[in-house]
Amino acid sequence: MLGAMMHKDLLISDLIVHAGKYHADTEIVSRETTGDMNTTTWSAVASSSRQLASALGTLGLDHGDRVATLAWNNHRHLKIWFAVSGSGLVCHTLNPRLPPEQFIFICNDAADKAIFFDKTFMPLITGTKAHLKTIEHFIFMGPRDEEVAAALPEAIFFDELIEKGDADYDWPQFSENTPCSLCYTSGTTGNPKGVLYYHRSTMLHTLAISLPDALSLSSRETILPVVPMFHANAWGIPYAAAMTGAKLVMPGPGLDGDSLLQLIDDYGVSLALGVPTIWMMLLASAAKSGSKMESLKRNVIGGSAAAPSMIAAFRDEYDCDTIHAWGMTETSPLGSANVPKGKHDDLDADTLAALRLGQGRPPFGIDLRIVDDEGNPLPHDGEAQGALQVRGHWVVETYFGKDQSATTEDGWFDTGDVSTIDADGYMVIRDRTKDIIKSGGEWISSVDLENIAVSHPGVAMAAAIGAVHPKWDERPIVVAVKAEGADPKEDDILALFDGKVAKWQIPDAVVFTDAIPLNATGKMLKNQLREQFGNLLIEREE
Ligand code: AMP
Repeated sequence: MLGAMMHKDLLISDLIVHAGKYHADTEIVSRETTGDMNTTTWSAVASSSRQLASALGTLGLDHGDRVATLAWNNHRHLKIWFAVSGSGLVCHTLNPRLPPEQFIFICNDAADKAIFFDKTFMPLITGTKAHLKTIEHFIFMGPRDEEVAAALPEAIFFDELIEKGDADYDWPQFSENTPCSLCYTSGTTGNPKGVLYYHRSTMLHTLAISLPDALSLSSRETILPVVPMFHANAWGIPYAAAMTGAKLVMPGPGLDGDSLLQLIDDYGVSLALGVPTIWMMLLASAAKSGSKMESLKRNVIGGSAAAPSMIAAFRDEYDCDTIHAWGMTETSPLGSANVPKGKHDDLDADTLAALRLGQGRPPFGIDLRIVDDEGNPLPHDGEAQGALQVRGHWVVETYFGKDQSATTEDGWFDTGDVSTIDADGYMVIRDRTKDIIKSGGEWISSVDLENIAVSHPGVAMAAAIGAVHPKWDERPIVVAVKAEGADPKEDDILALFDGKVAKWQIPDAVVFTDAIPLNATGKMLKNQLREQFGNLLIEREE
């Protein structure tokens, strides 16, 4: 034998063992479902996770069984994550914002055996229980609660269950190629599909997202994951916080701008992560209160495109550096993050700001390409635009319960996004394949039009869609929501496009609406908007 290195499977339990041992006194702050604040430490989370893992053993669950959570980001949810995955079960995070029939479909498809739930979601549980075919244990995330016991007599109480466990429980060792968690896509059409993550894929993802050219995480950070643990595993933050020993501030149910602002200012949050709609609310609250969010040095925007005006507001008014990131449930989720390279230090402010608008470049472990309609790879020259495909250590191969591979014949996953990629790998999402506007055979990026529309201070949110047109098949129109107290006119907004896009790309109309429908993870439901406004141009002609 020439010699050998130790072999140790990469397991989720290693994360919590590390955090408990080397970052024992680092705090985890949570807003409880009751609204009260709770403060605990990595040491306490580590021992509670072990005890809960042992207690789960009393429920007769088998290795690989799915245990669901229907919960906010809080300390109990964190303990459940480590207990379930660490003990060889699969943690299935459920999105409570899904319509009940999809919720039922997902629980049954995953064949969940047990479910942990926060009090907020009692009505969803009692309302759907008769249809949940496989769930044997309903575990309420709190102390004994008589109201819950009355509505759901079989309920088990987290704080009582954990007492049955052994705090000296040893984490089992098994292959890193074992499933650890499950998350369903929030599809806008059809039934959602499950993505089954492995211990190995999750650990590699955790290492990669923590690197300086990705999210640059460390024990010096106080991180507020606004992105829910049920949205692509809160983008991996709970795992990465344990790996790096960062302090966590968990927002619980308080996802409105005022509640988030209070957490940022009260707990000195240095890094926060969430989807654009969250930041819109936070910016409005900060402007109203006058807070400068002094502690907030960085934020990560992903899930949908971050508008340039939003990135600029964080930079110029709050001295907060936005990392624009892209990913999917199918990619664990991080696929790219926008961090400049050393060679960009010499760029002038405007050129650098333009570079920072895109979705960034992939970390080691992810490979990106763009292809044309026939699947031929296109050049990475920042100009060519094509279907974005991805492969890597934490990208889906096969959806949960499906036999058929989810990849192309040559092993890439087609994202459904349309992008450009430059020579350094900086990727820009131009659109979703199904949302791109096709006017007379030419493509118009709906994202570009939306960015221009929301740069108007009187516009809170905007969606650009293709409306049916007798001559051009489709012409772009903008559906906009007015900002509170503002009353912009259609012509004011149309005037903004002059000189910013080619003349033929300027929308034919702007129409105002009270709210843009969003899916369960905050993405605009453009198919609904197309149904509602798709005939606007024809109607206006009449
Ligand atoms: P989900 O699996 O629900 O997280 O949705 C993944 C999809 O969200 C991607 O395929 C993109 O279409 C979209 N997405 C995620 N991040 C971004 C981003 N930074 N900019 C634009 N679209 C994004």
